[in-house]
Amino acid sequence: MKRREWIRNVAGLGLLLAAGPIDRAVWASELSEPEKVKTLTLSGVKMTWIQDNPKERRMPNKIFSGADSRVIDELSPEGGALATVSCFLMQKDGKTALFDTANGNADSLLLPALEGLGVKPADIDYLFLTHFHGDHIGGMMRDGKAVFPRAEVYAAKTEYDGWMAMEGERKELVATTMKAYEDRLHLFAFGEELPCGIEPMDASGHTPGHTVYRVGDFLVIGDLMHGAAIQLKRPEVCASFDMDQPKAVAARKKYLAYAKENQLTMAGMHLPPPAFLKL
Ligand SMILES: [Zn+2]
Repeated sequence: MKRREWIRNVAGLGLLLAAGPIDRAVWASELSEPEKVKTLTLSGVKMTWIQDNPKERRMPNKIFSGADSRVIDELSPEGGALATVSCFLMQKDGKTALFDTANGNADSLLLPALEGLGVKPADIDYLFLTHFHGDHIGGMMRDGKAVFPRAEVYAAKTEYDGWMAMEGERKELVATTMKAYEDRLHLFAFGEELPCGIEPMDASGHTPGHTVYRVGDFLVIGDLMHGAAIQLKRPEVCASFDMDQPKAVAARKKYLAYAKENQLTMAGMHLPPPAFLKL
């Protein structure tokens, strides 16, 4: 069977990626064209992937380092690894939460997608943030105001402290956003139990307090990978966005192994569509 035919055949089987060759994620992503929302329910946790970017998005090969560029080009032959800017809606125990909020650009799909799912911004009980880059917290603000009027916000204390210690412009968006939510901002230590039984874990490296969250059989991995086609095979490769690259590599290796060992479904903010991945 030719690869293209195989791709067409697996399309009908749904896009949750079962155990098997790791680059199935990339194959699957080639088919899911119009689909920008997908819900998976595992052991009572309903997780919906929401793609924020309206058009196809690739991470250019040139932002990756840590392996020979020929190796990178071979793993990502189109000059850029297929990716997304995504966030995830979680419904569990009668509560509604978002993991990250994407970038809040004028053409962002998050709010229209929530509306399509029948969820209003005021319905969001919790926001769990993986880190403070603009493509993760940008959607928290619109026209200088908080978008989610009731949401209690959870972020790692090390992330907050790390950004506050940065100079000038870099932290501007972080400072205004956190100020807008200050009366309902909760800064946690790794390992603390959060609402809905969510467990935040230390995946720092990408940013000072980059967090992955375990909830049931899901592992929300934030920015553990920017180019899955490259980094699943070569986890030592970093995107230029990784602030502390040796730590980012260690975190990537650790949580990929952890997810595989525990048979968790990863939900990743830059995984290719449908942004769920099980190894
Ligand atoms: Zn990101």
